[in-house]
Amino acid sequence: MNKLIIIKYGELTTKKGNIKLFIKTLKKNIEVALKDFEYKIEYDNGRMFIFGEELEKMESRLEKVFGIHEIVIGYEFDSIDIEDLKENLKDLIQNEKITAFKVRTKRSYKEYPLTSMEVSRILGGVVLKTIPESIVDVHDPKTFVDVEIRMNKSYIYLDGKSGLHGYPLGVQGKGLLMLSGGIDSPVAGYLAMKRGVRIEGIYFESPPHTSEAAKEKVKTLTQILSRYSGYIKLHVINFTEIQEAIYKNIPKEYLITIMRRMMYRITERIAHKNNAKIIVNGESIGQVASQTLTSMSVINAVTNMPVIRPVACLDKLEIIALAKKIETYETSILPFEDCCTIFVPEHPVINPDLSLCEEYEKLVDFETLLKDAIKNEEVVTIREDDKKFEDLL
Ligand code: ATP
Ligand code: MG
Repeated sequence: MNKLIIIKYGELTTKKGNIKLFIKTLKKNIEVALKDFEYKIEYDNGRMFIFGEELEKMESRLEKVFGIHEIVIGYEFDSIDIEDLKENLKDLIQNEKITAFKVRTKRSYKEYPLTSMEVSRILGGVVLKTIPESIVDVHDPKTFVDVEIRMNKSYIYLDGKSGLHGYPLGVQGKGLLMLSGGIDSPVAGYLAMKRGVRIEGIYFESPPHTSEAAKEKVKTLTQILSRYSGYIKLHVINFTEIQEAIYKNIPKEYLITIMRRMMYRITERIAHKNNAKIIVNGESIGQVASQTLTSMSVINAVTNMPVIRPVACLDKLEIIALAKKIETYETSILPFEDCCTIFVPEHPVINPDLSLCEEYEKLVDFETLLKDAIKNEEVVTIREDDKKFEDLL
């Protein structure tokens, strides 16, 4: 008998053409998540099996890997004989608390002399006999007793833990996440990662108007997100000159609109340079003046790159619930100003006019400023286990 972790794949099994790439990517991501452990992986198109000593610790790491539907700790046996299965099941459940249960049998070895139903019925009888308070409940079981029969091995396990679902990180290529210190953008990043998009971050700072502490906060958020990917590359862009030029030359109600158009322009260029195919950000329809539909379209007009807004249609409370779940919330609400809040005019335009924006943008040589900002970017790779940012959590 071998104790092992059995991984059931997430949504990827429905994507027939891509299945090889999905499983290969998932395996690579699991290897990153388990880099501190000794283990062995075996896999096929239906399951991944992980053998090793510290299964419980590995299991908790796997809970942060996208593309996993369920993680179970189970047992592998070298016999598929029904008498052996009965004995093995009896031994395994001796000390378990089982009330309402259902046996599920999966038989990938089709030559097996018994049908799945027959195996389930026989093994259900074993559970009833071994545990007096157990009852069969096929409609609303509290416990699933799972049995899998393969060509020369069988597996038995009880309920597993839910995985994160989604697609393995990276199968969809890369996106550049506009990461501010707020609540929304880390959640947007998490949701994009969940769909298989590897992210890099971009943060605009405006020292001395924004503080070093605000930047550290963004790095801390990046590190929390890196729990799901092992590491994240963060591009820090000094936005001071651009922001001051906007402030000095552009009518107040258009400050934010133009500022965001500049952010998008830089983000698009950094994305191209780093092979990111999409921009991801935390905009949510109607949340602030720059996120009305008109504002979004006028701001969006500077780029042809797809801009994915995973939280666009969520309520703030729904976003907050997710932020709490992924543990970015407490950091996000730390009170450091970001570069948007400093220059916020009293009455930002909520229906900006595109041609006016284009006129205003001729007032300053923004192209030179954009190029300088990009040339001077600071790039840091933040890892899940970097000590530095852990202290800030
Ligand atoms: P968040 O809570 O994510 O900060 P918000 O509600 O404060 O969002 P805005 O400040 O209007 O909204 O920003 C909208 C989105 O633009 C953010 O979610 C983020 O993706 C991006 N963004 C805003 N400020 C910055 C910044 N300084 N650096 C990088 N991205 C930014
Ligand atoms: Mg913000």
